[in-house]
Amino acid sequence: MPWEGAPMAGIEVVDTIAAFRGHLDGVRRSGRTVGLVPTMGYLHDGHVSLMERAVAECDVVGVTIFVNPLQFAANEDLSTYPRDLPSDLERCEGAGVSIVLAPDVAEMYPRPVITTVSVADLGATMEGASRPTHFDGVATVVAKLFNIAGPCRAYFGEKDFQQLAIVRRMAADLSFPVEVVGCPIVRETDGLAMSSRNVYLSAEERAAAPVVHRALQAGAASILAGERDPGAVRTLMAGIISAEPLAELDYAEVVDPETMAAPTVLAGELRLLAAARFGTPRLLDNLAVRVPTHA
Ligand code: AMP
Repeated sequence: MPWEGAPMAGIEVVDTIAAFRGHLDGVRRSGRTVGLVPTMGYLHDGHVSLMERAVAECDVVGVTIFVNPLQFAANEDLSTYPRDLPSDLERCEGAGVSIVLAPDVAEMYPRPVITTVSVADLGATMEGASRPTHFDGVATVVAKLFNIAGPCRAYFGEKDFQQLAIVRRMAADLSFPVEVVGCPIVRETDGLAMSSRNVYLSAEERAAAPVVHRALQAGAASILAGERDPGAVRTLMAGIISAEPLAELDYAEVVDPETMAAPTVLAGELRLLAAARFGTPRLLDNLAVRVPTHA
């Protein structure tokens, strides 16, 4: 077992696919619903919001904690990704989760992976442009976790908005019998979107990081004030982030929330997305905006 601390009262912790699958098969056989919350651990209040929503909507909730090597490129932070299983298990238990799967890499990938899932168009831009192999790794592990857990509902954060769109599309295209539920972004009081990677920020970088959220808010405000040129909104958001000396802008985009395509004229429901590097960590954020019909 990966967890060798004191046994926890209300939660089962397993490290094999067979144990997790067996438990959840039994739940479904008895007519109860299964909710799944896939994570990479180092859990914070954003993750807890997904777990609490799942617990409210499903009879039994399973959480997976797995830092998936397939979604990290060779130059990325796989080996230094923050981990704290004892604290994670406390948070899972506090949220009312029934079972946690915390497998090692050999359990998930006993052989070299030669079968992968790719959601071509949705994964090509923004995060996909900066991290070309990332979304294939995400889609492949999520497909595996769906097959392992057999969830009725699976919960993902809007924090990773492009990932959520990809998971929804994969589930529809491959007819997974699961409802993919998107959950709102949980933020720190100064607007910074919670992320496991925020722990990497120095005090100065942490103070500067909310600029990404402020840029998105300024972009949304400009649209609400009548701006209809996507290029002008992108330039406005990029300018605000670039003006922060500790931020290195990656992208600032306005997209259709389903197709992730950049519209030529702004209308209807839109999503503003931005990413920037602060020292080591790359931080992501996004914001919904609806173009007013009267303006
Ligand atoms: P991760 O552990 O970073 O892979 O995240 C696991 C899940 O939690 C993903 O569906 C994320 O989108 C979601 N998540 C991460 N941060 C937040 C946040 N601040 N608010 C809401 N959901 C989040």
